[in-house]
Amino acid sequence: MEEKIITEEVENTSGGLNFVEQEIKKDLEEGKNGGRLNTRFPPEPNGYLHIGHAKAIIMDFGSAEKFGGTCNLRFDDTNPQKEDTEYVESIMRDIKWLGYDWEDRLYYASDYFPKLYDFAIRLIKEGKAYVDEQTSEQIAQQKGTPTEPGTNSPYRDRPIEENLDLFQRMNNGEFDEGSMVLRAKIDMANSNMHFRDPIIYRIIKTPHWRTGDKWKVYPMYDFAHGQSDFFEGVTHSICTLEFVPHRPLYEYFVKELADESYCPRQIEFNRLNLTYTVMSKRKLLQLVKEGLVKGWDDPRMPTLCGLRRRGYTPSAIKDFVDRIGYTKYEALNHIELLEHSVREDLNKTATRVSAVVNPVKLVITNYPEGKTEMMEMENNPENPSEGKHEMPFSRELWIEKDDFMENPPKKFFRLSPDKEVRLKGAYIIKCTGFKKNDSGEIEEIYAEYDPETRSGMPGSDRKVKGTLHWVSVPTAVDVEVRDYDRLFSVENPSAEEGDFRDLLNHDSLIVRKGVKLEPWAAENAKPGDHFQFTRLGYYTVDPDSTPELLVFNKTIGLKDTWAKEMKKL
Ligand code: ATP
Ligand code: MG
Repeated sequence: MEEKIITEEVENTSGGLNFVEQEIKKDLEEGKNGGRLNTRFPPEPNGYLHIGHAKAIIMDFGSAEKFGGTCNLRFDDTNPQKEDTEYVESIMRDIKWLGYDWEDRLYYASDYFPKLYDFAIRLIKEGKAYVDEQTSEQIAQQKGTPTEPGTNSPYRDRPIEENLDLFQRMNNGEFDEGSMVLRAKIDMANSNMHFRDPIIYRIIKTPHWRTGDKWKVYPMYDFAHGQSDFFEGVTHSICTLEFVPHRPLYEYFVKELADESYCPRQIEFNRLNLTYTVMSKRKLLQLVKEGLVKGWDDPRMPTLCGLRRRGYTPSAIKDFVDRIGYTKYEALNHIELLEHSVREDLNKTATRVSAVVNPVKLVITNYPEGKTEMMEMENNPENPSEGKHEMPFSRELWIEKDDFMENPPKKFFRLSPDKEVRLKGAYIIKCTGFKKNDSGEIEEIYAEYDPETRSGMPGSDRKVKGTLHWVSVPTAVDVEVRDYDRLFSVENPSAEEGDFRDLLNHDSLIVRKGVKLEPWAAENAKPGDHFQFTRLGYYTVDPDSTPELLVFNKTIGLKDTWAKEMKKL
């Protein structure tokens, strides 16, 4: 298992540029590639994008933006067995959501199948590739180890004519999948394992969603990626660290095509890994297919559509990526830091409203029956230009159950018998009693209000220690709230032995019905809107909402656990 370190926030060195951008800047200053910058984001359409991809997208599109270059979107659709248009569409939607645009630079690796095929033919004719009829097990056995050289295939020196004939017949569909491959003839003793006659083409008979059954041979990643970069005019091919050992092969193939005036270059940075999360597309697919989550956009998923549904914003994701930075070392990043970025962003934008998630009734016994006063509530104290809205106050109110205690400990500043609190934006009240039901639970709480203490009125500035949020009973709207916890119960699920599905947190979703929401919020809420429920956290309207029932996802609580984590480190 590879060693993982937990990183904190990374300082940008050199003029606010990360190390990749510094390399780009140098290349541009040296006039490489005619002073051109062209990056690309190359997703394989075999799953939905996750927050790790966002880190790559921000690098690819962001660096192009920074230096006045361009960024292509290129689908790496070289394996028809796993790919689908559903994924293509979701990927485009998510990139746009992050705020990036490939304009007219949308490409597919499958566009280059004819050129790649011709290139393979050329290598065969030059004696640089051969058809191997061994099984994949035999080929693997001959690979050797990093310290021991491999063994040559018995087919390595077959005549060029025979190779040409077989490769063409492979593509005509004359042979079964797995019966033959085309390998580059490089060096079975090379210290870089990727140079030990890598497989460059394999037979796949599944039709391709773009090219149908035109092709029966498909290029491997290492044979497709660099060449596609070259065909497209990409100058900087930025990817993650696991491709470091592939770089010499990237350069080997590209050199066969490039000249002095233009040659693409690969640069690698560290992947984003998050605590309590898995980032492998294969595992995420498994969670979806086996119904362990409610789909790719389940708000517990690290997918971009899941995060969006949860209420995370593009600016929060960008802020987080900026804080973790780009380095050359593998890292495991704290999910609390991402949450910190989300909280900071929503604090600036989310409308403050009142909701009671765990309601108990409070009766103001000296307040006239049938009377309603409209209280003014600030929409966002962080941004007074957002204005105010009105919230009705009446004799019967909902408050949170845990804001009342019959026998409170010393430092309990909320409501208890004979104690005073302020009802936010309204009056100071004093608890005068309560009623229990037959099973001993508090059913109703009684209080008297002090009419001289209405918020904002002259002489209302008497101070009490606690302030409670509340919602007026007659006008409260019942809504559903979905509370989320970590999807996995361990910090680094990928580092654990055994089945990752056994590590799922079974209490990661709690559905609360009958949450009381103030009417102004209920009238105005549309899917995707962000709110702060006073004293509780940030909540985002879910697309499952109907005209009859609003559904909210709890995006994140108010308490910043990142600050606490940082103290521990
Ligand atoms: P796989 O290759 O297993 O299907 P992948 O996550 O690498 O999965 P790609 O579609 O190949 O998926 O990824 C597209 C780009 O996103 C690549 O350049 C890859 O390096 C980058 N990327 C993928 N995962 C992360 C991550 N966790 N952090 C940063 N970049 C990532
Ligand atoms: Mg990949």
